[in-house]
Amino acid sequence: MLAYRDTGAHSGGEGLVQFAHVGKVGNAMTVPLSVSDGVFFKHCNINSLTLFADIAVEASAGQICDKKRQDPTALSNKKCTLAMMSMGEKSGQFDVVIVGGGPGGMAAALWCDELGLTSCLIDGASNFGGQLHWIHNPITNYLGGKFDNGTAVLRAFSASLSDRRFTQMLDLRMTAIDRTSMTVSLDDGRDISAKAIVIATGIRRRMLGVPGETEFNARGILGSGSRDKSEASGKTVAVIGGGDAALENALILAEYAEKVYLIHRRERFSARKEFIKALKDNDRIETIFEARVKELGGSSELEFVDVELAGGVSRRIAIDNAVVRIGVQPNSEILNDIADLDDAGYVIVDREGRTSVANIYAIGDVAHPTSPTIATATGSAAAAIKSIAAQMRKTE
Ligand SMILES: Cc1cc2nc3c(=O)[nH]c(=O)nc-3n(C[C@H](O)[C@H](O)[C@H](O)COP(=O)(O)OP(=O)(O)OC[C@H]3O[C@@H](n4cnc5c(N)ncnc54)[C@H](O)[C@@H]3O)c2cc1C
Repeated sequence: MLAYRDTGAHSGGEGLVQFAHVGKVGNAMTVPLSVSDGVFFKHCNINSLTLFADIAVEASAGQICDKKRQDPTALSNKKCTLAMMSMGEKSGQFDVVIVGGGPGGMAAALWCDELGLTSCLIDGASNFGGQLHWIHNPITNYLGGKFDNGTAVLRAFSASLSDRRFTQMLDLRMTAIDRTSMTVSLDDGRDISAKAIVIATGIRRRMLGVPGETEFNARGILGSGSRDKSEASGKTVAVIGGGDAALENALILAEYAEKVYLIHRRERFSARKEFIKALKDNDRIETIFEARVKELGGSSELEFVDVELAGGVSRRIAIDNAVVRIGVQPNSEILNDIADLDDAGYVIVDREGRTSVANIYAIGDVAHPTSPTIATATGSAAAAIKSIAAQMRKTE
Protein backbone atom coordinates (compact mmCIF):
# COMPACT_ATOMS: atom_id res chain seq x y z
CA MET A 1 0.00 0.00 0.00
CA LEU A 2 1.31 3.41 -0.87
CA ALA A 3 0.10 6.69 0.43
CA TYR A 4 0.95 10.16 -0.66
CA ARG A 5 1.38 13.50 0.90
CA ASP A 6 -0.16 16.07 -1.37
CA THR A 7 2.01 19.09 -1.93
CA GLY A 8 -0.56 21.04 -3.82
CA ALA A 9 -0.51 19.43 -7.20
CA HIS A 10 -4.30 19.23 -7.48
CA SER A 11 -4.47 22.55 -9.20
CA GLY A 12 -3.04 21.01 -12.35
CA GLY A 13 0.27 20.73 -14.07
CA GLU A 14 2.93 18.57 -12.60
CA GLY A 15 3.38 18.76 -8.88
CA LEU A 16 5.47 17.12 -6.27
CA VAL A 17 3.96 14.23 -4.42
CA GLN A 18 5.92 12.20 -1.96
CA PHE A 19 5.19 8.58 -1.40
CA ALA A 20 5.63 6.53 1.69
CA HIS A 21 5.35 2.81 1.87
CA VAL A 22 2.91 1.83 4.57
CA GLY A 23 1.38 -1.29 5.98
CA LYS A 24 -2.38 -1.44 5.92
CA VAL A 25 -3.99 -1.81 9.34
CA GLY A 26 -7.71 -1.50 8.94
CA ASN A 27 -8.51 2.06 8.00
CA ALA A 28 -5.67 3.65 9.92
CA MET A 29 -2.03 3.11 9.29
CA THR A 30 1.23 3.96 10.90
CA VAL A 31 4.23 4.53 8.75
CA PRO A 32 7.83 5.03 9.71
CA LEU A 33 9.08 7.66 7.32
CA SER A 34 12.46 6.79 6.05
CA VAL A 35 13.61 9.14 3.39
CA SER A 36 17.07 7.68 3.52
CA ASP A 37 15.77 4.83 1.41
CA GLY A 38 15.35 6.28 -2.04
CA VAL A 39 12.93 3.57 -3.07
CA PHE A 40 10.21 4.80 -0.80
CA PHE A 41 10.20 8.45 -1.68
CA LYS A 42 9.57 9.54 -5.17
CA HIS A 43 8.17 12.29 -7.20
CA CYS A 44 5.36 11.24 -9.43
CA ASN A 45 3.33 12.54 -12.25
CA ILE A 46 -0.01 14.25 -11.90
CA ASN A 47 -1.72 11.12 -13.26
CA SER A 48 -1.16 9.17 -10.14
CA LEU A 49 -3.04 11.67 -8.01
CA THR A 50 -6.31 10.17 -9.14
CA LEU A 51 -5.28 6.88 -7.62
CA PHE A 52 -4.67 8.13 -4.16
CA ALA A 53 -6.70 11.29 -3.99
CA ASP A 54 -8.67 10.09 -1.02
CA ILE A 55 -5.89 9.34 1.41
CA ALA A 56 -5.47 11.94 4.09
CA VAL A 57 -2.20 12.16 5.92
CA GLU A 58 -1.65 13.61 9.36
CA ALA A 59 1.77 13.82 10.91
CA SER A 60 1.74 12.93 14.59
CA ALA A 61 3.81 15.99 15.40
CA GLY A 62 1.35 18.10 13.47
CA GLN A 63 3.94 18.44 10.83
CA ILE A 64 3.32 17.65 7.21
CA CYS A 65 6.39 17.23 5.14
CA ASP A 66 6.04 19.56 2.22
CA LYS A 67 8.99 19.43 -0.10
CA LYS A 68 8.33 22.99 -1.16
CA ARG A 69 8.90 24.28 2.36
CA GLN A 70 10.98 21.77 4.16
CA ASP A 71 13.70 19.26 3.64
CA PRO A 72 11.94 15.89 3.81
CA THR A 73 14.86 14.34 5.64
CA ALA A 74 13.69 16.35 8.64
CA LEU A 75 10.91 13.81 9.04
CA SER A 76 13.16 10.81 8.85
CA ASN A 77 12.11 8.07 11.27
CA LYS A 78 9.18 10.02 12.68
CA LYS A 79 5.93 8.18 12.84
CA CYS A 80 3.00 9.52 10.94
CA THR A 81 -0.55 8.38 11.29
CA LEU A 82 -2.26 8.01 8.00
CA ALA A 83 -6.00 8.12 8.08
CA MET A 84 -7.37 6.42 5.04
CA MET A 85 -10.68 7.74 3.91
CA SER A 86 -12.62 5.52 1.53
CA MET A 87 -10.18 4.29 -1.07
CA GLY A 88 -13.15 3.71 -3.35
CA GLU A 89 -12.80 2.29 -6.80
CA LYS A 90 -10.63 5.02 -8.21
CA SER A 91 -8.53 4.26 -11.19
CA GLY A 92 -5.74 6.00 -12.96
CA GLN A 93 -4.43 5.81 -16.47
CA PHE A 94 -0.78 5.62 -17.35
CA ASP A 95 1.12 5.28 -20.58
CA VAL A 96 2.65 2.10 -19.21
CA VAL A 97 1.82 -0.13 -16.27
CA ILE A 98 4.72 -2.40 -15.26
CA VAL A 99 3.89 -5.45 -13.19
CA GLY A 100 6.87 -6.79 -11.23
CA GLY A 101 9.59 -4.66 -9.68
CA GLY A 102 12.67 -6.84 -10.09
CA PRO A 103 15.59 -5.69 -12.27
CA GLY A 104 13.39 -5.86 -15.39
CA GLY A 105 10.55 -3.79 -13.95
CA MET A 106 12.92 -1.26 -12.38
CA ALA A 107 14.75 -0.79 -15.69
CA ALA A 108 11.41 -0.43 -17.48
CA ALA A 109 10.39 2.38 -15.09
CA LEU A 110 13.70 4.13 -15.77
CA TRP A 111 13.26 3.83 -19.52
CA CYS A 112 9.69 5.14 -19.34
CA ASP A 113 10.92 8.28 -17.61
CA GLU A 114 13.83 8.54 -20.05
CA LEU A 115 11.42 8.49 -23.00
CA GLY A 116 8.78 10.74 -21.42
CA LEU A 117 6.18 8.06 -20.69
CA THR A 118 4.18 8.02 -17.48
CA SER A 119 4.42 4.70 -15.70
CA CYS A 120 3.29 2.81 -12.66
CA LEU A 121 5.52 0.08 -11.20
CA ILE A 122 3.62 -2.51 -9.19
CA ASP A 123 5.02 -5.29 -7.02
CA GLY A 124 3.32 -7.81 -4.76
CA ALA A 125 6.27 -7.76 -2.36
CA SER A 126 7.00 -5.06 0.20
CA ASN A 127 10.21 -4.04 -1.61
CA PHE A 128 11.32 -3.81 -5.19
CA GLY A 129 14.26 -5.99 -6.25
CA GLY A 130 12.68 -9.39 -6.95
CA GLN A 131 15.30 -12.15 -6.95
CA LEU A 132 18.03 -9.68 -5.98
CA HIS A 133 16.85 -10.31 -2.41
CA TRP A 134 17.73 -14.01 -2.82
CA ILE A 135 21.32 -13.49 -3.97
CA HIS A 136 23.75 -13.77 -1.06
CA ASN A 137 26.91 -14.41 -3.07
CA PRO A 138 28.99 -11.82 -4.97
CA ILE A 139 27.70 -10.84 -8.40
CA THR A 140 30.68 -10.52 -10.69
CA ASN A 141 29.09 -10.90 -14.11
CA TYR A 142 27.05 -7.71 -14.43
CA LEU A 143 28.97 -5.14 -16.44
CA GLY A 144 29.93 -2.04 -14.49
CA GLY A 145 31.01 -3.40 -11.17
CA LYS A 146 31.50 -6.21 -8.71
CA PHE A 147 28.73 -6.43 -6.17
CA ASP A 148 28.90 -8.16 -2.80
CA ASN A 149 25.40 -9.59 -3.21
CA GLY A 150 21.96 -8.85 -4.66
CA THR A 151 21.27 -6.16 -2.08
CA ALA A 152 24.28 -4.22 -3.37
CA VAL A 153 22.90 -4.37 -6.92
CA LEU A 154 19.50 -3.28 -5.65
CA ARG A 155 21.09 -0.33 -3.89
CA ALA A 156 22.74 0.75 -7.15
CA PHE A 157 19.50 0.30 -9.11
CA SER A 158 17.50 2.24 -6.49
CA ALA A 159 20.02 5.07 -6.67
CA SER A 160 19.59 5.19 -10.46
CA LEU A 161 15.85 5.51 -9.98
CA SER A 162 15.90 8.04 -7.16
CA ASP A 163 15.44 11.05 -9.44
CA ARG A 164 13.20 9.33 -11.96
CA ARG A 165 9.51 9.99 -12.25
CA PHE A 166 7.16 7.06 -11.94
CA THR A 167 4.47 5.91 -9.56
CA GLN A 168 5.28 2.96 -7.39
CA MET A 169 2.90 0.57 -5.72
CA LEU A 170 4.16 -2.09 -3.34
CA ASP A 171 2.38 -4.92 -1.49
CA LEU A 172 -0.13 -5.07 -4.32
CA ARG A 173 -0.46 -8.14 -6.50
CA MET A 174 -1.87 -8.20 -9.99
CA THR A 175 -4.76 -10.66 -10.05
CA ALA A 176 -6.07 -10.25 -13.61
CA ILE A 177 -5.56 -8.51 -16.93
CA ASP A 178 -8.33 -7.29 -19.18
CA ARG A 179 -6.84 -7.17 -22.66
CA THR A 180 -9.80 -5.26 -24.12
CA SER A 181 -9.73 -2.34 -21.70
CA MET A 182 -5.95 -2.71 -21.08
CA THR A 183 -6.58 -2.85 -17.37
CA VAL A 184 -4.64 -4.56 -14.62
CA SER A 185 -6.66 -5.59 -11.56
CA LEU A 186 -4.99 -5.55 -8.16
CA ASP A 187 -5.70 -7.62 -5.08
CA ASP A 188 -7.12 -4.63 -3.21
CA GLY A 189 -9.90 -4.34 -5.81
CA ARG A 190 -8.43 -1.45 -7.78
CA ASP A 191 -8.00 -1.40 -11.53
CA ILE A 192 -5.13 0.41 -13.22
CA SER A 193 -5.38 1.12 -16.91
CA ALA A 194 -2.64 1.97 -19.34
CA LYS A 195 -1.89 2.22 -23.02
CA ALA A 196 0.63 -0.61 -22.66
CA ILE A 197 1.17 -3.34 -20.07
CA VAL A 198 4.62 -4.74 -19.31
CA ILE A 199 4.76 -8.08 -17.51
CA ALA A 200 7.98 -8.40 -15.50
CA THR A 201 6.81 -10.95 -12.94
CA GLY A 202 9.92 -13.15 -13.07
CA ILE A 203 10.03 -16.67 -11.70
CA ARG A 204 9.49 -18.47 -8.42
CA ARG A 205 11.15 -21.53 -6.94
CA ARG A 206 9.46 -24.81 -7.76
CA MET A 207 8.22 -26.72 -4.74
CA LEU A 208 8.32 -30.48 -4.16
CA GLY A 209 4.66 -30.61 -3.22
CA VAL A 210 5.23 -33.23 -0.52
CA PRO A 211 3.99 -33.40 3.08
CA GLY A 212 6.09 -31.35 5.51
CA GLU A 213 7.48 -28.93 2.94
CA THR A 214 5.40 -26.00 4.13
CA GLU A 215 5.17 -27.12 7.77
CA PHE A 216 8.94 -27.29 8.28
CA ASN A 217 9.76 -24.17 6.32
CA ALA A 218 12.12 -22.20 8.60
CA ARG A 219 11.91 -25.09 11.11
CA GLY A 220 14.75 -26.98 9.53
CA ILE A 221 14.12 -26.20 5.86
CA LEU A 222 16.54 -23.42 4.97
CA GLY A 223 15.79 -20.66 2.49
CA SER A 224 19.35 -20.46 1.22
CA GLY A 225 22.53 -22.46 1.74
CA SER A 226 24.78 -19.42 1.53
CA ARG A 227 22.64 -17.19 3.76
CA ASP A 228 21.82 -19.84 6.37
CA LYS A 229 25.10 -21.78 6.33
CA SER A 230 25.95 -21.06 9.95
CA GLU A 231 22.64 -22.66 10.98
CA ALA A 232 23.86 -25.92 9.42
CA SER A 233 27.15 -25.89 11.30
CA GLY A 234 28.03 -29.40 12.53
CA LYS A 235 24.66 -30.79 11.35
CA THR A 236 23.33 -33.20 8.74
CA VAL A 237 21.72 -31.55 5.74
CA ALA A 238 19.81 -32.77 2.69
CA VAL A 239 20.02 -30.74 -0.49
CA ILE A 240 17.37 -31.73 -2.99
CA GLY A 241 17.94 -31.14 -6.71
CA GLY A 242 20.52 -31.73 -9.42
CA GLY A 243 21.11 -28.41 -11.16
CA ASP A 244 23.59 -25.57 -10.56
CA ALA A 245 21.65 -24.16 -7.60
CA ALA A 246 21.45 -27.53 -5.81
CA LEU A 247 25.13 -28.36 -6.28
CA GLU A 248 26.25 -24.87 -5.33
CA ASN A 249 24.19 -25.07 -2.12
CA ALA A 250 25.57 -28.55 -1.33
CA LEU A 251 29.17 -27.35 -1.80
CA ILE A 252 28.65 -24.26 0.38
CA LEU A 253 26.89 -26.22 3.12
CA ALA A 254 29.57 -28.94 3.10
CA GLU A 255 32.01 -26.33 4.41
CA TYR A 256 29.91 -26.04 7.58
CA ALA A 257 27.78 -29.17 7.97
CA GLU A 258 29.13 -32.49 9.15
CA LYS A 259 27.36 -34.35 6.35
CA VAL A 260 25.42 -33.34 3.24
CA TYR A 261 23.12 -35.68 1.33
CA LEU A 262 22.54 -34.53 -2.22
CA ILE A 263 19.29 -36.12 -3.33
CA HIS A 264 18.43 -36.10 -7.03
CA ARG A 265 15.56 -37.82 -8.79
CA ARG A 266 17.49 -38.44 -12.01
CA GLU A 267 20.57 -40.59 -12.61
CA ARG A 268 22.87 -37.69 -13.47
CA PHE A 269 23.23 -34.00 -12.67
CA SER A 270 22.35 -31.18 -15.04
CA ALA A 271 24.74 -28.79 -13.24
CA ARG A 272 27.86 -27.27 -14.75
CA LYS A 273 31.01 -29.39 -14.92
CA GLU A 274 33.06 -27.49 -12.34
CA PHE A 275 30.37 -28.05 -9.69
CA ILE A 276 30.21 -31.77 -10.51
CA LYS A 277 33.99 -32.03 -10.27
CA ALA A 278 34.09 -30.17 -6.94
CA LEU A 279 31.42 -32.51 -5.65
CA LYS A 280 33.46 -35.61 -6.48
CA ASP A 281 36.39 -34.22 -4.48
CA ASN A 282 34.24 -33.54 -1.42
CA ASP A 283 33.96 -36.44 1.02
CA ARG A 284 31.34 -34.75 3.19
CA ILE A 285 28.78 -34.94 0.38
CA GLU A 286 26.96 -38.21 -0.32
CA THR A 287 25.00 -38.30 -3.56
CA ILE A 288 21.78 -40.29 -3.84
CA PHE A 289 20.57 -40.58 -7.44
CA GLU A 290 17.15 -41.74 -8.64
CA ALA A 291 15.54 -40.81 -5.36
CA ARG A 292 12.11 -39.22 -5.15
CA VAL A 293 11.38 -37.26 -2.01
CA LYS A 294 8.13 -38.42 -0.43
CA GLU A 295 8.04 -36.50 2.84
CA LEU A 296 9.97 -34.06 5.00
CA GLY A 297 9.04 -34.86 8.56
CA GLY A 298 9.72 -34.50 12.26
CA SER A 299 7.97 -33.44 15.44
CA SER A 300 8.48 -29.75 16.13
CA GLU A 301 11.62 -29.42 13.96
CA LEU A 302 12.66 -31.21 10.78
CA GLU A 303 14.10 -34.66 11.59
CA PHE A 304 14.01 -36.79 8.47
CA VAL A 305 13.47 -37.02 4.74
CA ASP A 306 11.73 -40.05 3.26
CA VAL A 307 12.76 -41.01 -0.26
CA GLU A 308 11.71 -43.67 -2.70
CA LEU A 309 14.68 -45.16 -4.52
CA ALA A 310 14.79 -46.90 -7.90
CA GLY A 311 12.81 -50.14 -7.75
CA GLY A 312 10.39 -48.68 -5.21
CA VAL A 313 12.65 -49.14 -2.17
CA SER A 314 11.92 -46.66 0.65
CA ARG A 315 14.62 -45.05 2.74
CA ARG A 316 14.38 -42.69 5.73
CA ILE A 317 17.38 -40.39 6.17
CA ALA A 318 17.88 -38.55 9.46
CA ILE A 319 18.63 -34.87 8.84
CA ASP A 320 18.56 -31.56 10.72
CA ASN A 321 18.21 -29.25 7.75
CA ALA A 322 17.15 -29.33 4.11
CA VAL A 323 17.45 -27.03 1.12
CA VAL A 324 15.17 -27.57 -1.87
CA ARG A 325 16.50 -26.47 -5.28
CA ILE A 326 14.50 -28.28 -7.94
CA GLY A 327 14.22 -25.48 -10.45
CA VAL A 328 11.98 -22.52 -11.07
CA GLN A 329 8.72 -21.74 -12.82
CA PRO A 330 7.55 -18.53 -14.47
CA ASN A 331 4.97 -16.30 -12.80
CA SER A 332 2.86 -16.24 -15.93
CA GLU A 333 -0.41 -17.90 -14.89
CA ILE A 334 -2.34 -14.65 -15.31
CA LEU A 335 -1.54 -14.72 -19.02
CA ASN A 336 -2.68 -18.36 -19.38
CA ASP A 337 -5.74 -17.72 -21.51
CA ILE A 338 -4.60 -14.36 -22.79
CA ALA A 339 -1.19 -14.62 -24.48
CA ASP A 340 0.86 -17.42 -26.04
CA LEU A 341 3.07 -19.30 -23.57
CA ASP A 342 5.56 -22.10 -24.26
CA ASP A 343 5.20 -25.60 -22.83
CA ALA A 344 6.98 -24.61 -19.62
CA GLY A 345 4.75 -21.55 -19.18
CA TYR A 346 7.25 -18.89 -20.30
CA VAL A 347 5.74 -16.00 -22.22
CA ILE A 348 6.56 -16.08 -25.92
CA VAL A 349 7.84 -12.71 -27.09
CA ASP A 350 9.48 -11.20 -30.15
CA ARG A 351 12.77 -9.32 -30.01
CA GLU A 352 11.01 -6.16 -28.78
CA GLY A 353 9.26 -8.02 -25.99
CA ARG A 354 5.84 -8.03 -27.70
CA THR A 355 3.58 -10.90 -26.68
CA SER A 356 0.88 -12.34 -28.93
CA VAL A 357 -1.49 -9.62 -27.64
CA ALA A 358 -1.18 -6.07 -28.95
CA ASN A 359 0.30 -3.66 -26.39
CA ILE A 360 1.09 -6.36 -23.83
CA TYR A 361 4.82 -6.92 -23.42
CA ALA A 362 6.85 -9.35 -21.29
CA ILE A 363 10.44 -8.84 -20.15
CA GLY A 364 13.04 -10.51 -17.96
CA ASP A 365 12.95 -14.03 -16.60
CA VAL A 366 9.23 -14.60 -17.25
CA ALA A 367 9.98 -14.46 -20.98
CA HIS A 368 13.65 -15.48 -21.24
CA PRO A 369 14.23 -18.98 -19.86
CA THR A 370 17.54 -19.40 -21.68
CA SER A 371 19.09 -16.27 -20.17
CA PRO A 372 17.69 -15.64 -16.68
CA THR A 373 20.09 -12.82 -15.88
CA ILE A 374 20.06 -9.25 -14.66
CA ALA A 375 21.50 -8.16 -18.00
CA THR A 376 18.70 -9.78 -20.00
CA ALA A 377 16.06 -8.39 -17.62
CA THR A 378 17.35 -4.81 -17.92
CA GLY A 379 18.11 -5.14 -21.64
CA SER A 380 14.72 -6.58 -22.52
CA ALA A 381 13.15 -3.75 -20.51
CA ALA A 382 14.94 -1.16 -22.64
CA ALA A 383 13.87 -2.92 -25.86
CA ALA A 384 10.23 -3.11 -24.76
CA ILE A 385 9.90 0.49 -23.58
CA LYS A 386 11.63 1.79 -26.73
CA SER A 387 9.16 -0.22 -28.79
CA ILE A 388 6.21 1.14 -26.78
CA ALA A 389 7.45 4.72 -27.15
CA ALA A 390 7.90 4.30 -30.91
CA GLN A 391 4.43 2.80 -31.21
CA MET A 392 2.90 5.69 -29.26
CA ARG A 393 4.68 8.25 -31.43
CA LYS A 394 3.20 6.57 -34.51
CA THR A 395 -0.35 6.69 -33.18
CA GLU A 396 -0.18 10.25 -31.82
C1 LIG B 1 20.64 -17.23 -6.12
C2 LIG B 1 20.59 -16.43 -7.40
C3 LIG B 1 21.77 -15.98 -7.96
C4 LIG B 1 21.75 -15.23 -9.14
N1 LIG B 1 22.93 -14.77 -9.64
C5 LIG B 1 22.91 -14.01 -10.75
C6 LIG B 1 24.14 -13.47 -11.28
O1 LIG B 1 25.22 -13.70 -10.75
N2 LIG B 1 24.05 -12.71 -12.41
C7 LIG B 1 22.87 -12.45 -13.05
O2 LIG B 1 22.87 -11.74 -14.05
N3 LIG B 1 21.69 -12.95 -12.57
C8 LIG B 1 21.70 -13.72 -11.45
N4 LIG B 1 20.51 -14.22 -10.97
C9 LIG B 1 19.28 -14.05 -11.77
C10 LIG B 1 18.67 -12.66 -11.65
O3 LIG B 1 18.47 -12.32 -10.30
C11 LIG B 1 17.35 -12.65 -12.42
O4 LIG B 1 17.61 -12.98 -13.77
C12 LIG B 1 16.64 -11.31 -12.36
O5 LIG B 1 16.33 -10.96 -11.04
C13 LIG B 1 15.35 -11.35 -13.19
O6 LIG B 1 14.68 -10.14 -13.05
P1 LIG B 1 13.13 -9.99 -13.39
O7 LIG B 1 12.81 -8.56 -13.20
O8 LIG B 1 12.82 -10.62 -14.69
O9 LIG B 1 12.35 -10.89 -12.32
P2 LIG B 1 12.43 -11.06 -10.75
O10 LIG B 1 13.72 -10.60 -10.21
O11 LIG B 1 12.02 -12.47 -10.50
O12 LIG B 1 11.29 -10.07 -10.20
C14 LIG B 1 9.94 -10.32 -10.42
C15 LIG B 1 9.09 -9.45 -9.50
O13 LIG B 1 7.71 -9.59 -9.85
C16 LIG B 1 6.93 -9.60 -8.69
N5 LIG B 1 5.66 -10.27 -9.00
C17 LIG B 1 5.48 -11.56 -9.39
N6 LIG B 1 4.16 -11.79 -9.63
C18 LIG B 1 3.50 -10.64 -9.34
C19 LIG B 1 2.12 -10.24 -9.39
N7 LIG B 1 1.15 -11.08 -9.77
N8 LIG B 1 1.80 -8.97 -9.02
C20 LIG B 1 2.77 -8.10 -8.64
N9 LIG B 1 4.09 -8.42 -8.59
C21 LIG B 1 4.45 -9.67 -8.94
C22 LIG B 1 7.78 -10.33 -7.66
O14 LIG B 1 7.40 -9.97 -6.35
C23 LIG B 1 9.19 -9.84 -8.02
O15 LIG B 1 9.56 -8.71 -7.26
C24 LIG B 1 20.50 -14.96 -9.79
C25 LIG B 1 19.31 -15.40 -9.22
C26 LIG B 1 19.37 -16.13 -8.04
C27 LIG B 1 18.06 -16.60 -7.44
